[in-house]
Amino acid sequence: MPSLRSYHIVTYGCQMNDNDSEIMAGILESKGLEYVPSAEDADVVVVNTCVVREGAEERALGRVANLASAKKRGNCKVLAISGCMAQKDGEHLLKLLPNVDLVIGTRDLFKLGELIEHVVVSGERVVAVEDIDKPVFGGVQPVRRFSQVRGLVTVMYGCNNFCTFCIVPHTRGREVSRPVAEVVEEVRRLADEGYSEVVLLGQNVNSYYDKEKRANFADLLAAVNEVAGIKRIRFVTSHPKDCTRQLIEAIATLDKVCESIHLPVQAGSNRVLRRMKRFYTKEEYLNLLSSLRERVPAIAITTDIIVGFPDETEQDFEETYDLMERARWDSAFMFMYSPRPGTKAAEWIDSVPLEEKKRRLQRCITLQERISTEINAQLLGTVQSVLVESVSKKSEAQLMGRTRSDKAVVFTGPTSLIGQEVNVRITETFAHTLRGVLVSRGESSFDARVGSDKNGRRETIVKLGI
Ligand code: SF4
Repeated sequence: MPSLRSYHIVTYGCQMNDNDSEIMAGILESKGLEYVPSAEDADVVVVNTCVVREGAEERALGRVANLASAKKRGNCKVLAISGCMAQKDGEHLLKLLPNVDLVIGTRDLFKLGELIEHVVVSGERVVAVEDIDKPVFGGVQPVRRFSQVRGLVTVMYGCNNFCTFCIVPHTRGREVSRPVAEVVEEVRRLADEGYSEVVLLGQNVNSYYDKEKRANFADLLAAVNEVAGIKRIRFVTSHPKDCTRQLIEAIATLDKVCESIHLPVQAGSNRVLRRMKRFYTKEEYLNLLSSLRERVPAIAITTDIIVGFPDETEQDFEETYDLMERARWDSAFMFMYSPRPGTKAAEWIDSVPLEEKKRRLQRCITLQERISTEINAQLLGTVQSVLVESVSKKSEAQLMGRTRSDKAVVFTGPTSLIGQEVNVRITETFAHTLRGVLVSRGESSFDARVGSDKNGRRETIVKLGI
């Protein structure tokens, strides 16, 4: 593509979208384009969109509209929309935004290079939104990673669950899992490039299944755990109904699998959970938390909560509030329900008034802040193994890293530590972050994370009193 030299990608939404953007960046770089940090300076701009909530969709559409009107005056030669909005609205986006050149669906991602070439050569505007259920993976591709430390690896696409509030199965299609060997090969490449941590991604990651190898998600974790050089394995997002005993055992026994899990509950009322089509009850969810905490005492558990689902009564909401007090999640992403056209719940009356949704949300936020503060306060004085990710956003003199339980820690240290596991003593705790001081660099002879190791030393918080 000789006339095109540079590209920029704007990404909205989840880590799967982040990884899709990395794959698209890899494709563009393999065609000779260079990344530039500003969309205004790029020849090719891709806006990778999210429609999972109304706010995200409006933000993405606003950004595309701004870029489309700026295109006349700027460098941009090709403006493309990808992701869930592209899949959902296809052709309509070309009509709505005359300066958009390319709309590329979620399963057409790997054709980005040839589609841009076609746009440039033919001058045509193109919509490439194929069948939502066709296979999606393009093998192990060259990927342009945006993190130096944390490698994202999509292991499955799509979701078969059709929760009544969720647009994902309509924009990402049915579940398709990559073969174990292909995932392991990508993780090996990451290890060769110096990555310490991998995050295995899927909309419903724990229903992963490689039919040929008859390997489920726990088997995949075991295979990735064997890759030399990788120190930490995370995964997201897990459905409670697919959180099996075998998966709990994998978290408990595989040394690289971190002690954290995101386990969206969505609501605490069994009536609402049924209407959401979540396939578990409040009691079953609490039992699952007990099993996880019993087997992996150091585990940090996070969740998603929706308030104001259609027909959610005050009593239903109180059930959610009660569940929050009993579950005591480390943190929670909390949202007001907004109807997503095309979903089952969007056919129902959005009966809870906005003011009431806001009131319920605020109560949840206040409660969760208290619980997160209390849980994190237990880490005061402990020494945590922290994988250093970057310079802190707030101060260039400080570094930011994460504990194995995925808690952000800010401390002072040289940038040469980025990518290394270091030991940090926690000196201050807040609801969302920890502060600490560097105790030792690199590998240590002791494992000082909360709950310790895989050999039964998990039961207590290790206080070294340094
Ligand atoms: S399991 Fe997750 S991705 Fe799938 S439909 Fe439900 S909320 Fe959406």
